[in-house]
Amino acid sequence: MKNRTLIGPFKQIIPMTGINLKGAISDHELEIIEDGGILIEDNLILATGNFEDLKIAYPEAEIHPLKGNHVCVPGFVDAHTHICFGGSRAKDYAMRNAGKSYLEIAHAGGGIWDTVTQTRKSSLEELTKSTIKRANRHLKNGTTTLEVKSGYGLTVAEELKMLRAIKNADNEALPELISTCLAAHMLPKDFDGSEIEYLKMISEELFPILKEENLTHRIDAFIEQSAFSADDIQAYFSKASEMNFDIAVHADQFSAGGSKVAVEFNAISADHLEASGDTEIALLAQSDTISVALPGASIGLGCDFTPARKLLDAGAALAIASDHNPGSAPMGDLLTQASILGTFQKLTNAEVLAGITLRAAAALKLEDRGKLEAGLLADLAVFHSDNYQDILYYQGNLKPCMVWKNGTLVFDRHK
Ligand SMILES: [Zn+2]
Repeated sequence: MKNRTLIGPFKQIIPMTGINLKGAISDHELEIIEDGGILIEDNLILATGNFEDLKIAYPEAEIHPLKGNHVCVPGFVDAHTHICFGGSRAKDYAMRNAGKSYLEIAHAGGGIWDTVTQTRKSSLEELTKSTIKRANRHLKNGTTTLEVKSGYGLTVAEELKMLRAIKNADNEALPELISTCLAAHMLPKDFDGSEIEYLKMISEELFPILKEENLTHRIDAFIEQSAFSADDIQAYFSKASEMNFDIAVHADQFSAGGSKVAVEFNAISADHLEASGDTEIALLAQSDTISVALPGASIGLGCDFTPARKLLDAGAALAIASDHNPGSAPMGDLLTQASILGTFQKLTNAEVLAGITLRAAAALKLEDRGKLEAGLLADLAVFHSDNYQDILYYQGNLKPCMVWKNGTLVFDRHK
C-alpha cells in the first residue's frame, strides 16, 4: 500500500518548472499555481495542481491541511559550503574589520591554517556532531540539500577523517549532505615539498581510498595565487577525470584564471568568480559549467560581489550558494545572502530563486530535485505568506514555517 499525502491548500505554489538552465529569466516566466496542492507518494512528488481537483482525483490520499496563507517553493540547494570544521575565527574577523592585513592576521595565528590546526585536533565524533548541528540550522532556513567540503585536514589521514565525518553526519542530519574532497585547498605548511608534489601525493594516495570507501565523487581545488596555479593543477585534475570524479573549482576569487581551467576540464561548477572579467564571463557562458556566486564571502570580506547580472545576460547558468565557512563566510544564511546579491546585482526574483533551486541542483549534478514536479523528491520549503515575492522581499528574515525532506515533514514552526 503506497503512502499518499495531499498537502494544501497553498495560496501559491512556485514549482520552478519550465525554466531554462542558462541565461536571464524574467519573473513572468515563473509558473504560479494558485490554491494549489502537492500530492506526495512516499518520498516523491506524485502530482501538483489545484488542491480541490487533486482531492477529487486522489480520494484515498491522507490530507495534510493548511490553515491561513502559505507559499511553497522547492527546498533550497546550497551547492557550496565548508561546514565541517573545528574552532572559530571570530578573532580573525575582528582583526580584518579593524584594518589588519592578511599577513598580520596570519602572523597572529589566524587564517585557514588556524582552522586546519583546530580541525586536526577535533575527533571524528566532534566533527560529525558539529556538522550535523550546522546542517540542521540550514534546514530550518529551507535548505534541504547541502554540499560540504573537506579541505581543513590537508593530509591523507586528516582529509579522510573529515570526509568520514561528513558521511556520518549525512546519516543523521535532516538535509542531505553531498561531500566534496577539497584536499587542494592550500599547500599545508608542514608538507615537505612543492605544490605539485603535494597534489601528486594526494591524488596517488587519497583518491583510491575515496573510491574504495565511497566517500565522495567530487574533487575541488582552490586555484589562486595564494593556493594552486593553473599549471600546478593540470595533472591533479587529469587524474581526477581519469578516475571519473566530478570536478569543481574555486575560481577567480581574487584573480582571474581558475574559470578557464574549470571550463577546460569540463568542471560541473566554477565557484566564486568575483574577479571574473568579460573574457571569463564569455567563456563560462559558452560552457556547460555552472557559475556559482558566493555572496556570503563578499559580505564576510567586504569585497565585490560576483558579476551575476553580467553572467546571466551573457547566457551563463548562475547558482547561488552560502560558502558557509569559519573564515570568510561565517553567517551561513543562504536566503539572506541570495536576497542581498539580488539587490546589488539587480537580479529578478526568478533568477535568485532558480539560483538556489534548480540551477543549484545542476551545480551538484542532481536531477531529482530543485523543482516541484511529478517524480522528483518531495523537498519543500513553505512560507507563511500570500505572495511568493515576500520570500526575497524580507531579505531572509521571513523563515519557512515548514520544511519537508524526502516526503517527511522534518521542521514545523507551527508546533
Ligand atoms: Zn569555498
